[in-house]
Amino acid sequence: EGLYPDTQIEQEILGPGVRVIRGNARSSLAELPDEMLAEVDGLMTLRMWVPAEQIARFPKLKVVVRMGVGYDRVDRVACAARGILVANLPDYGTQEVAEFAVLLAVALRRGLTLYHDTQRGPNPAPWAVMPSAIVRRQEVQSFGIIGLGRIGSAAALRAKAFGYRVVFYDPYQPNGWDRALGIQRARTLEELLAQSDVLSIHCPLTRHTRGLVGERELRLLPKDAVVVNTARGPILDIDALARCLKDGHLAGAGLDVIPVEPPVEPVPELLRAYRAQEEWLRGRLIITPHIAFHSPEAWRDIRVKGVETMRDVLVE
Ligand code: NAD
Repeated sequence: EGLYPDTQIEQEILGPGVRVIRGNARSSLAELPDEMLAEVDGLMTLRMWVPAEQIARFPKLKVVVRMGVGYDRVDRVACAARGILVANLPDYGTQEVAEFAVLLAVALRRGLTLYHDTQRGPNPAPWAVMPSAIVRRQEVQSFGIIGLGRIGSAAALRAKAFGYRVVFYDPYQPNGWDRALGIQRARTLEELLAQSDVLSIHCPLTRHTRGLVGERELRLLPKDAVVVNTARGPILDIDALARCLKDGHLAGAGLDVIPVEPPVEPVPELLRAYRAQEEWLRGRLIITPHIAFHSPEAWRDIRVKGVETMRDVLVE
């Protein structure tokens, strides 16, 4: 997909007996010539869709490694029909995403975005933005986590280091892990929401979690709470979020993910107001482009894990 400068890591791990070919398709496998695909035993792909009609163009294909969470971009039925294995990488960038979630919360709660934004306007005086409902001392705040998995646990440790009292809700996490982390369990989502000055989402997107945090849930948060989503966009209703920010129930939000990425027209109201730099959102919203996982170290991990999976199938 033309994202790497070279294929050195892949070649070293696979050894001299395997030839690594880089396909420079921008948006679709259809851009690659038949002669190239005819030779391919294993396909590693990041964002590319792998539909049945493209799978049919790989006569020798034995394995598809999707370098990310989930299989939704690969037609698994078409692969299964030909005995092609499909793998994904469920754990990458754990530290990066956890840091990013806490970073979004702290940046909002310490007024970083608010103060930064004022410096672009005509009145750079600090008293123009003091007091603000969003700025708080972290030690008097509770950090609520939905989903205490890899990233949620790493976020819990980082939030604790900032002095937050950490609470989580995860119906599938067995008792005990929370005690090892020194954090508190909420038995229901409602119980978690009632005490989360910051709510950070870290569960996967499933049919149970789609729309899990809607208007009812947002209104159960304490007034002036902050919501952070680094998991998957459709878990949080951002139209409801816009209403809760606009009427002053919530103080702010940090979103690395939104329901449709990249956004298509007509964009959600929240995004429209953010782009227009509307005054009611000043210093209260951070949006980033699904980039929380990114660091050169995380990229290296993704490549190494992906190609090790490929080697397990093709070489060993
Ligand atoms: P994980 O599987 O280790 O943890 C997910 C946790 O969520 C599990 O403990 C599970 O029990 C819990 N869970 C499932 N359903 C739940 C529900 N209904 N309510 C509460 N908890 C529930 O996953 P992870 O590696 O920690 O990843 C977490 C999220 O981060 C995923 O959505 C993943 O897609 C996302 N992610 C985002 C980025 C990014 O760049 N923004 C990068 C990697 C992963």
